[in-house]
Amino acid sequence: MQLIDLQAQRRRLGNAVEVAISRVLDHGQFVMGPEVRELETELAARSGVAHAVSCASGTDALLLVLLAWGVGPGDAVFVPAFTFPATAEVVTLLGATPVFVDVDAATFNIDPGSLARGLDLVVSGSLRPAAVIAVDLFGQPADYIALEEVVGTTGMPVLADAAQSFGAQRGGVPVGKMAVATATSFFPSKPLGCYGDGGAVLTDDSELAACLRSLRVHGQGSNKYDNVRTGVNSRLDTIQAAILLAKLLIFDDELSERSIIAATYNDLLAGVALTPTLQEDATSAWAQYTIRLDGRDHVAAQLRAAGVPTAVYYPKPLHHQPAFVNGLVSPGGVPEATRLCETVLSLPMHAYLKPEDQELVAKTLAASLIR
Ligand SMILES: *Cc1c(COP(=O)(O)O)cnc(C)c1O
Repeated sequence: MQLIDLQAQRRRLGNAVEVAISRVLDHGQFVMGPEVRELETELAARSGVAHAVSCASGTDALLLVLLAWGVGPGDAVFVPAFTFPATAEVVTLLGATPVFVDVDAATFNIDPGSLARGLDLVVSGSLRPAAVIAVDLFGQPADYIALEEVVGTTGMPVLADAAQSFGAQRGGVPVGKMAVATATSFFPSKPLGCYGDGGAVLTDDSELAACLRSLRVHGQGSNKYDNVRTGVNSRLDTIQAAILLAKLLIFDDELSERSIIAATYNDLLAGVALTPTLQEDATSAWAQYTIRLDGRDHVAAQLRAAGVPTAVYYPKPLHHQPAFVNGLVSPGGVPEATRLCETVLSLPMHAYLKPEDQELVAKTLAASLIR
């Protein structure tokens, strides 16, 4: 059994990926080739936004947006304490200060109450509240409506870290359209993954999109040797765009398979562990299926012995990471994030997981609980 079975997906794709790659080998436009534009059009259409700007990774997607917004020293950027480190890394890389905010234990996403307390702290100090990065952890969109209420009159933009949630929606609004800018990742194990690194920003803001298109090519102006700003080299390879176009043909089907598998887990594990909670009108892309339980490490060892791989996303709250010791913590601390690091366990989750494997996971899990 695999946590994420990319080979099963490959078997389903048949030779579609090989065909897509050889088309790129034939036309030879390896950087910014026609598939890149085609993919961007497709991503924007799926998200209901005007612009998709592809780039080299999900981390770069976050970085490019903060660069475009001019985030730097003296700025505070609010991030959840329970997420993949890249969410906060882009903040410190630019010399800004991350303010770690607690999360909601049931949805794993940033807690608007804790954000409000962090905002009060920053407003009463010397930093400028510059942005919020909300993460759609494990595939479920954060509560952007509640976040907008907190951010309210500050004018501070919300950047969605949708590295794990492309394809999800809430109240009929797709990921990409819930925040002014949304960053996603095509790392191989994400719900929509390529065969290497890749990412994209989704936005309705034409000025931002134009700035991002410049920043990803060294701050290029109207032509190649016109530099209007300091940028980076962060483009999505044409081959990766071609692979993503092939994978998008089965993506909706995979999303519904993932939902069915999550619902099956919910049934099998009811009363055994705390299963994930979705907001009433939300769907998840189910990047991970993550339960909460006491005695997590013992249970993980028992599962491993039975041939069931698991993972702990994430073992340490970010404010305890050496890289982020200079960050601030929202008043009241981040108790939920800290507790989650001790209790979460991610189970095998992918569109090709078999019912008998799910039953083995549930049976082994129930038998290994310390009561
Ligand atoms: C994967 C991930 C990223 C970074 O994406 P890369 O494409 O690996 O750079 C950022 N944030 C979150 C929440 C992620 O899961």
